[in-house]
Amino acid sequence: MVPTRTTPSGVARVRHVPQRTCVACRRTGDQRTFVRLVRGAEGGVEVDERGRAQGRGAYLCRDVACWERGAKGALNGALRTTIDATNRAALVAYGSQFVSAPAPDSGAHDEESGEA
Ligand SMILES: [Zn+2]
Repeated sequence: MVPTRTTPSGVARVRHVPQRTCVACRRTGDQRTFVRLVRGAEGGVEVDERGRAQGRGAYLCRDVACWERGAKGALNGALRTTIDATNRAALVAYGSQFVSAPAPDSGAHDEESGEA
């Protein structure tokens, strides 16, 4: 005999997605939303494109503003390191590819639907 299971509130099956947090703006989301950074062997911060490097990691949004903020200090704390000027410039340069979308036809449409 199989006992009948009652779910408290008809919860749909939720796929578990690990949540990450941007160290600059504290926004959370799934890993694909962010770029992972790791502390390199020499104490600098390196971009971990594949998200698989060993060691202490931190995440930043794909948004240049977060990279600038991260390079200025947020990453120092998160990765327990000190980003030097060269490293900082490299990170900001990398982050500059993630220009905040200028929104060509900017409607007041800012809902965060998880639409792929
Ligand atoms: Zn962010």
